Amino acid sequence: MKVVAIEGEPSALVFDLDNTLYTNPDYAAFQEDVLVERLGRELGVGTEGARARIAGLRAERAAAGLGKTSLGKLFAALGVDMAKSVRWREECYEPSRWLERDAKLDRALCLLSKDYRLALMTNNPRLVGEKSLEALGVRDHFSVLVGLDDTFSGKPAPEPFALTAERLGLEPKCCVSIGDRFDVDLAPAMELGMGAILVDGVEDVYLLPELFADRNPVSRSD
Ligand SMILES: [Mg+2]
Repeated sequence: MKVVAIEGEPSALVFDLDNTLYTNPDYAAFQEDVLVERLGRELGVGTEGARARIAGLRAERAAAGLGKTSLGKLFAALGVDMAKSVRWREECYEPSRWLERDAKLDRALCLLSKDYRLALMTNNPRLVGEKSLEALGVRDHFSVLVGLDDTFSGKPAPEPFALTAERLGLEPKCCVSIGDRFDVDLAPAMELGMGAILVDGVEDVYLLPELFADRNPVSRSD
C-alpha cells in the first residue's frame, strides 16, 4: 500500500472494485477473456483475432505516447459502443459465481464508514458493481455507486471521478480515490484534486482503518 497523496482531512473514500475490494486473478482474467471472445464473434474474427486487434490498438497508443485507456474505449474504437459494452458485461458477468462474503472487508469498511462516506466507482456497469458488493456482503456501507453506464466514459477519463464527487455532494479535494492502478484510479483523481492511495489488493484495504486512525487519532471513538 502506498499513500500517494492526502491533504487535509478527507470526508469520503472512493473505492475501485476489481483488484481493490477483492483479489481474484482468475475472475479478473475471465472478465477480459469473455469480452474479447464476444468481440471476436461480433467482428467475425474469432477470439484470437479480437485479441490481436486489442493488442494492436494498445501498441499504437503506447507508440504515440498516449497513456492508458479503458477496455471500453478500445472496444468503441473497434465499433462496439459503450452501451453495447455495458450490455455484454451485464450479460457475461455473474459476480456471485466468483466472489464470496468477506468478513475482514466488512469489518474494515464498517470502521471506515464511521468517519468517512464510502463510494464505489467502477469501470464495470453499476449493476455489476451492485451485485459484487452484495456478493462480498458489504453493500450497505456504500452510499454512492458510479458505474460505466453512469457516464459512458470509463476511468481514467475524468467524468466518473467528477460525478462521484458530485453525487457525494463534496468537492473532489474532500475525496480520496483508492485503487490498484495508478494510471487509471489515481492519476486522474489527483488531477481533480482528490487524494490517492494505491493498494495491491483487498489485503491492503483491511489495513486502511489503522492507517486513517494513525493519521487522525482524536476523531476516532473506538
Ligand atoms: Mg482495479
